[in-house]
Amino acid sequence: MRKKIVAGNWKMNNTLQETENLLNELISKKPTESNAKIVVAPTFVNLQTAVTKTAGTGIIVCAQNAHQAENGAFTGEVSVGMLKSIGVQTVILGHSERRAYFGETNAILAQKVDTALKHNFTVIFCFGEELSDRESGNHFSLVESQIKEGLFHLAELDWKNIVLAYEPVWAIGTGITASSDQAQEMHAFIRTLLRTNVGNKIAEETSILYGGSVKPDNAVEIFSKPDVDGGLIGGAALKADDFIAIVNAMR
Ligand code: 13P
Repeated sequence: MRKKIVAGNWKMNNTLQETENLLNELISKKPTESNAKIVVAPTFVNLQTAVTKTAGTGIIVCAQNAHQAENGAFTGEVSVGMLKSIGVQTVILGHSERRAYFGETNAILAQKVDTALKHNFTVIFCFGEELSDRESGNHFSLVESQIKEGLFHLAELDWKNIVLAYEPVWAIGTGITASSDQAQEMHAFIRTLLRTNVGNKIAEETSILYGGSVKPDNAVEIFSKPDVDGGLIGGAALKADDFIAIVNAMR
């Protein structure tokens, strides 16, 4: 059985106080109608507080990025080892904002994935097409190359720590959600890609999340699709009630 996961990517939002408040709300109103794993990804600065606060709650704390090097002269960067030392074992890599604004290429991401896996992290690996790719009918081949170049060098055993997250860039923060059929179509394509290239077992066992304007009112429909195993939530993850409603939509 694939894991069901609903992850909140808080991006560059929430001060320490706001982080504590949101976590308090999530913990006290804990979703009860879902067996999905709940993941939250606060900013680096607030990860340690989040780890302490969520201890024993089942909520998994995740970083939004990590550097590919073990350590060294990379001013402003954060290593996987540093994250591990404060109790973080999950990291988002390859988010479209990292790719677009911080020059993260498939080749760099492949290195980041390797470093994270070496330290036994779970990697939520993001990819997705721009609107222009979809309009030109290039979206399948674009997504295929992002996954191939980022992940297909991995050994079979590594895949148990990989979660995929399809996030069409045109749906992120825009209020425009991919239709549930568009999401299902891409997720089924990805599963076939895995089946063909890395084997049936990995294809069946790898969770594929959808991200892009998921809200309480569209989550049930999106999550009802057979190849959608959960969501990566941006804006709606910043409000406890919305996030909990989305978690509860994942049955
Ligand atoms: P929104 O839910 O705000 O569209 O963001 C999605 C996202 O980028 C999650 O990583």
